[in-house]
Amino acid sequence: FPSRHVTARVAPLSSQLVLALVEDRTRERRVESIRRDFVANVSHELKTPVGAIKLLSDAVIDAADDPEAVQRFAGRMHKESDRLARLVQQIIELSRLQGDDPLVEPLAVEADAIVARAIDESATDAQARRITVVHQGTRGLWLLGNREQISVALGNLVANAVTYSPEGSTVVVSATGHDTTVDLAVTDQGIGIPSSEIDRIFERFYRVDPARHRSTGGTGLGLSIVKHVAASHGGEVRVWSVEGQGSTFTLTLPRKPGLPPASAPDATEP
Ligand code: ADP
Repeated sequence: FPSRHVTARVAPLSSQLVLALVEDRTRERRVESIRRDFVANVSHELKTPVGAIKLLSDAVIDAADDPEAVQRFAGRMHKESDRLARLVQQIIELSRLQGDDPLVEPLAVEADAIVARAIDESATDAQARRITVVHQGTRGLWLLGNREQISVALGNLVANAVTYSPEGSTVVVSATGHDTTVDLAVTDQGIGIPSSEIDRIFERFYRVDPARHRSTGGTGLGLSIVKHVAASHGGEVRVWSVEGQGSTFTLTLPRKPGLPPASAPDATEP
């Protein structure tokens, strides 16, 4: 009896092990194929600004005796190199996040500070286009996660809201608390996203209209970074959008259980 009992227990265990190994190999292959695609896309995306900078520098040399043309070409070189720098920075961020591994040690993060920082970082671009970015919603909420990652994610959403909005419009950034989660939402009155494209905007390097967006200096990586941050926190990102009217992106993240730490500012003002 005892030996049959043991055999009966060993068999399912070993088949479980085989299954786990097969799953592991499948996951490994999937990760490898994602990595290969990513490298191919990265090479392609980097070639564009690098090629443009090369051509423009040739043009500057050729136009040496025409100061106005030099000015014009140098201005475009500046824009392309800015875009190149942003691309490199986002590629590094994304490859750090790529594993989608859950966070090892989530820490308490103050939602108000994250919102304030994202608004602050968008200030120059917002002012240049007379866009007002306001902080609304509940104050004093605490999240659980990685401060840097959450900051980058919300920063990307606010930067997009400003980029894809008309001059003089308003962008609202708000925090809302639920039982176990906090929603960080960014609402704009911008160009919106066609419903046929909405499923694709979180893909790496995807841009709704690359020709139209070229002038914005976008990389197509911002939202895939947001998606990875949501995933690594066990959260999610959702979008609601009407073309020509505006969009709301909501990043849902874990809420820190219990009361906020005693040192938390008791800010309830709008
Ligand atoms: P990008 O660097 O091009 O902004 P993202 O990954 O951040 O890349 O966004 C992907 C695409 O989704 C953008 O190119 C744009 O077409 C669209 N998009 C993102 N945010 C908004 C928004 N707030 N309003 C309208 N379109 C948006």
